[in-house]
Amino acid sequence: MAYPDTYYARTLVDHKTRLPLHGEAQCDVAVVGAGLAGLTTALQLARAGLHVAVLEAQSIGFGASGRNGGFVTPGFATGGDKIAARVGEKAGRDLYRLSIEGVEFVRDTIETLGISAAMPRPGLLSVLRYDDGDGLKAHAEQMARDHNYELQYLDREDVRSVLKSARYHQGLRDPNAFHIHPLSYLRCLADEIERLGGEIHESAEVVQCDLTGSQKMLRTRQGTLRAPRIVLATGGYTGPVFGPLHRAFLPIATYVMVSEAAPRLIAQAIATTDAVGDDRRAGDYYRRIEGGDRLLWGGRITTRAASADALARQLRREMIGTYPQLADLKTELAWSGLMSYARHLMPQIGELQQGVWYCTAFGGHGLNTTAIAGKVVAEGILGVSDRYRQFAPFGLNWAGGTAGLAAAQLIYWKLQVQDWWRERKATAKETIAA
Ligand SMILES: Cc1cc2nc3c(=O)[nH]c(=O)nc-3n(C[C@H](O)[C@H](O)[C@H](O)COP(=O)(O)OP(=O)(O)OC[C@H]3O[C@@H](n4cnc5c(N)ncnc54)[C@H](O)[C@@H]3O)c2cc1C
Repeated sequence: MAYPDTYYARTLVDHKTRLPLHGEAQCDVAVVGAGLAGLTTALQLARAGLHVAVLEAQSIGFGASGRNGGFVTPGFATGGDKIAARVGEKAGRDLYRLSIEGVEFVRDTIETLGISAAMPRPGLLSVLRYDDGDGLKAHAEQMARDHNYELQYLDREDVRSVLKSARYHQGLRDPNAFHIHPLSYLRCLADEIERLGGEIHESAEVVQCDLTGSQKMLRTRQGTLRAPRIVLATGGYTGPVFGPLHRAFLPIATYVMVSEAAPRLIAQAIATTDAVGDDRRAGDYYRRIEGGDRLLWGGRITTRAASADALARQLRREMIGTYPQLADLKTELAWSGLMSYARHLMPQIGELQQGVWYCTAFGGHGLNTTAIAGKVVAEGILGVSDRYRQFAPFGLNWAGGTAGLAAAQLIYWKLQVQDWWRERKATAKETIAA
């Protein structure tokens, strides 16, 4: 099975492989990419009785979907204020509601299909690395008012009673969010698609396509698939074969590491089973896994590839900077994955030309947004709703190529400096107060 060496691949219980596409084949809808976006779309179409076939270049969940932090939370990769600035207040709120529906879709799917291997655990704690309790309270009130969505406010003492770090100030707990083993979840979606008559082919990279005419054509090295409708869900791994998508995204890498088993040491620092994330742009996110035995820690982004050792060192520096008491906690494994970002930082969802659908660019916030994307694209194909049009303001604009990547790296560095400055001021204030 062609998986990168991640904790999720190491802990898979299901080792089934799927055959590549051989010869000529035909289906109702062909989906390219067996990540969360592609398989959710395929699942919804198969549930509606269509014959779907999925082509995956490597193996199910090979991309970001099988390597991520596993946090299932509402929202998008960009903030509500930026979304509202582009689409207006009401449309912004409607989009946010879709993002909550995405969370519920994942929860319902785990329950309905009995996906115990996804090991869902409730709770997300979002914490500030600077002092702004009033800002957090205002945000919680707005979420309650606009979306009837409950967030529990935690003051500094509450936060530090569970997260034993002097870096943290106030926090918000989201009891509705949860965290999962994403690769196991995805592989169970694949089983369900096949049970409903769908086909999934691994080692089936699409190397050539003809998207014109009433029958679209997708060619792999060993076979050809034709369908009147296709869905492109190739995420941060999209190649030039899909030109309009390839030009419209930036592949951004982010990193995760997993510690040795040391339950007591970890629990002394992190006394919660909630997932935790801080407020910084591309800040730290982490959670206890395996019943608390190990710590999964993620963070940082870069536009350039880094070695596993170098990135494990960077993440360790972050972890020990936050929790000096974890200095002896050894890292066993680290890996990276590519996210797809559009310049507007929102998902790209829609119909490129008749019968050619795309759903991609979920950035670092893909577990809920791929779910809603799969749902609305399937509804669009089935003609039962046009909710996908809510994403129309966020189109396939050119992302800037190499210059775009360089600009993204510069912006990230600038934001890191701003974060550092904001925290430094908060620390100085606390020192003076003490
Ligand atoms: C390290 C990391 C941590 C993250 N943590 C979180 C988190 O905690 N919560 C959250 O919400 N989001 C998180 N994300 C983001 C989330 O994982 C992604 O947004 C989401 O998985 C994207 O799914 P996708 O289906 O669009 O793309 P992918 O999962 O990348 O799938 C695309 C697939 O398309 C295939 N493909 C590409 N080209 C072809 C071709 N020509 N032919 C056939 N197949 C092709 C690829 O092989 C790949 O399997 C994280 C991402 C990373 C990398």
